[in-house]
Amino acid sequence: MISYPQPTPEMSEKMQPKPTHTPTYSVVIPAYNEQEVIAEAYKRLTAVMRQMDEDYELIFVNDGSRDKTAEIIAGFCADDSAVRLINFSRNFGHMPAISAGMEHARGQAVFIIDADLQDPPEIFPEMAKLWREGYHVVYGQRKRREGETLFKKLSAKVFYRFIRRMTSVDMPVDTGEFRLIDRRVCDAVNRLPEKNRYIRGLVSWVGFRQTPIMYVRQERFAGKTKYPFSKMVAFAMDAITAFSYKPLKLATSMGFLLSIASFVYLAVIFYQRFFTDTTITGWASTMGILLLSQGIVMLVLGLIGEYIGRIYEEIKERPAYIVQEIVEKDKIHE
Ligand code: UDP
Ligand code: MG
Repeated sequence: MISYPQPTPEMSEKMQPKPTHTPTYSVVIPAYNEQEVIAEAYKRLTAVMRQMDEDYELIFVNDGSRDKTAEIIAGFCADDSAVRLINFSRNFGHMPAISAGMEHARGQAVFIIDADLQDPPEIFPEMAKLWREGYHVVYGQRKRREGETLFKKLSAKVFYRFIRRMTSVDMPVDTGEFRLIDRRVCDAVNRLPEKNRYIRGLVSWVGFRQTPIMYVRQERFAGKTKYPFSKMVAFAMDAITAFSYKPLKLATSMGFLLSIASFVYLAVIFYQRFFTDTTITGWASTMGILLLSQGIVMLVLGLIGEYIGRIYEEIKERPAYIVQEIVEKDKIHE
């Protein structure tokens, strides 16, 4: 018989499972320079969560804000144990911020919502109801957008439809990150190793039972959009390249078509030279075709470059974000 040593008092204390607090709901809120809205967001989120009458946690991810966002959230932490603040070491972007929140969330269901209150937290109870009915993902789908520029509305419309065409994943249109996801979906997405994370695409990709809920996207409560045109384009490129290599296939078919056209054109030139006495004129047409084909070649090279650049980014295996510290009531983890 093997005799085990009797646990000493301090040993048994160590072996005690830590009192892991698993709330029913987590709310992930990415925030970058949101000092004008963050207090209102906290107020409205807390009101909704209290009304839902279950254990919850609010996880604010401060994505390297240069204003007072972090201080204000730390203030909430000081007197509310339901709030946690994850401070990034610098600005890493919207998607990394949500990823961090999802990795730190402990709830059975995780809500994702922007800090700017464009998406109404007041529909959380309805989302939770669908979750309890057995859906693993309840995603907010925009019936309408209010208070945004015509350009933003139009570009968003085109973007969602274009992405949907370009990828083989069933991605719903007019859907951002605003959603509820079940613990299993959260775990599945967290386990995906890629660093370039187009979250809404990844959530669609993992599957499970998903359902939309319609809402009207409001005007920002305050502050300005953090997505200027250049970031929107980069975001669209990330989304497409992460889920599809159709653009590369497009390049192949373009090249193919161009070759056929040139072949036919060459045949015409030979015919003219040997069987007619039409003089061959036309610097302009030669130059035109030359420039066009060169343009297409450059375009395709650039496209290939986009993919190679992303392969390079992934292969470096740098983390998608770095946490500087986590702030909770009476605690700071460095
Ligand atoms: N955001 C972020 N990091 C960034 C840019 C934005 O965490 O680098 C946050 C921002 O604070 C907001 C959300 O992501 O909570 C969405 O940004 P925004 O409202 O500016 O985008 P829009 O709604 O205009 O597309
Ligand atoms: Mg917004």
